[in-house]
Amino acid sequence: PLIMGIETSCDETGVGLVRGCELLGEDVASSVAEHARFGGVVPEVASRAHLEAMVPTVRRALDAAGVKASDVDAIAVTAGPGLAGALLVGVSAAKAYAMALGVPLYGVNHLIGHVAVDQLEHGPLPKPAVALLVSGGHTSLLLVNDLATDVRSLGDTVDDAAGEAYDKVARLLDLPYPGGPPIDRAAREGDPEAIRFPRGKWGDGTFDFSFSGLKTAVARWVEDVGRAGEAIPVADIAAGFQESVVDVLTRKAVDACREHGVGHLVISGGVAANSRLRALAEERCTAAGITLRVPRPKLCTDNGAMIAALGAEVVAAGLPPSRLDLATDTSLPVSVPLAP
Ligand code: ATP
Ligand code: MG
Ligand code: FE
Repeated sequence: PLIMGIETSCDETGVGLVRGCELLGEDVASSVAEHARFGGVVPEVASRAHLEAMVPTVRRALDAAGVKASDVDAIAVTAGPGLAGALLVGVSAAKAYAMALGVPLYGVNHLIGHVAVDQLEHGPLPKPAVALLVSGGHTSLLLVNDLATDVRSLGDTVDDAAGEAYDKVARLLDLPYPGGPPIDRAAREGDPEAIRFPRGKWGDGTFDFSFSGLKTAVARWVEDVGRAGEAIPVADIAAGFQESVVDVLTRKAVDACREHGVGHLVISGGVAANSRLRALAEERCTAAGITLRVPRPKLCTDNGAMIAALGAEVVAAGLPPSRLDLATDTSLPVSVPLAP
């Protein structure tokens, strides 16, 4: 069956068309530039942008896939988690398309979508797999027994998400929003050993994470240098900060695979686009005999293909469609792949 996926949980309006593990075409419109001057996503601005972008994005995705709306067999949409108003635009549009086309509607979990998208690049995910989900709003280790029916949380951030830490540290360094890409670039020019920042929850025996202490450590460093009237060594701070983040992420991910006897690790979410995270994860997985799967950067950040990919799983599992009065859930737990 041909699945159309619709994503509007944050500031990307994404539409993707997927058959099984095959991505036929997609399109993403982003309002990120409109939020940049505020240093973070403004919910009302995002909702309005989704409203304007929704129909044109669907049209462009259908064109890219070379299919017609009438070819679509089912609609999958992000039901949560995400921003209330933003989710509402996508879910409302999805209901309208499902009714107009006479096809079933599936309200799926955005976070599991971030993991499911890897199937479009690397084929069916071996079961079980461990997933490290690192995005703007979440940082979790997941035990994925089945994408459509059985995802368990092994650990979570107790404060900031990894992407959030990148965005906040970028602000401290006067780098633009979103902070991930400019820190990634700056760090390449810096020495990751020049400044050793703390590793949150290192070796504490849990699969939880903490990044707010790291952010405070960077803030203190920047203040001290400023007070001394010296130039801020942006590249070294970026490299040292990044090393702390990816060191903890990769170590705990490999530990989770070992503890659960799992041989496959997926890393996904916006921060999975990070070049140092990809390199260190590859190094440590190779050493531990774990097969690493990381989708290409464009599929790591929010998009519609990830929602269609999870929709295809849910349809293949024979789960009942969501009802047409499907509600959004801003804090849908990761253990719920499909909203009722
Ligand atoms: P969630 O999925 O938790 O609801 P989100 O959808 O807003 O959050 P994503 O779009 O998956 O998050 O990811 C956005 C985040 O990824 C931002 O915080 C951004 O800074 C970060 N990011 C993007 N590229 C990179 C990179 N190269 N290195 C590090 N972080 C990055
Ligand atoms: Mg975004
Ligand atoms: Fe996301």
